[in-house]
Amino acid sequence: MGEPSGVNQSISPWKSVWKLGVVGKVKFFIWKAISNLLPTKGNLYKKKSAENPLCPVCNKVEETVLHGLWECVAAREVWGERDSQVSKSGKVFENFADLWMEFSSKLDERGLELVSVICYRLWLRRNDLIFRNFFCGPKHLIKAACTDITDFSMAIVEPKEGEIQVHLQSKEGKAETNIAYGNLHLEQG
Ligand SMILES: [Zn+2]
Repeated sequence: MGEPSGVNQSISPWKSVWKLGVVGKVKFFIWKAISNLLPTKGNLYKKKSAENPLCPVCNKVEETVLHGLWECVAAREVWGERDSQVSKSGKVFENFADLWMEFSSKLDERGLELVSVICYRLWLRRNDLIFRNFFCGPKHLIKAACTDITDFSMAIVEPKEGEIQVHLQSKEGKAETNIAYGNLHLEQG
């Protein structure tokens, strides 16, 4: 379906999400982040499901979606690894939806895909810290995000005869692991 250009995206910031060339679980994650449906400590605390609202990574301020995926000092390290226009602008955002609007207006499709995978991996890393006491460094996270993007492009690229199964299988294997892991934590609270 075609959309008129100049449509006011602020009415529906997630419109750009469904068009992303990333796996479904990442789109769904971004949609949840925009809709403030992630079980952050701040959100759990409001529902009386957490003892305190503090960010499990820095332990300093309330963990909102925006904090965990953008403002937290550990997230800043990751974004600092990317020479991002949005990072450089130094703009302050109200919430993740606000940030996503900025991403959508400043980045091209490829850039938007990468930031969405980085956000997803920031969330997985935060869960790793809570549930496995493991926390990877910013370079490792960016590398993993870039691999996610490459894997996805490889899976959708027109394959040579006999190649399709290999790509789809390796892709599926990876997705399965991540889906199980992602959902486990996303559904908490
Ligand atoms: Zn923090």
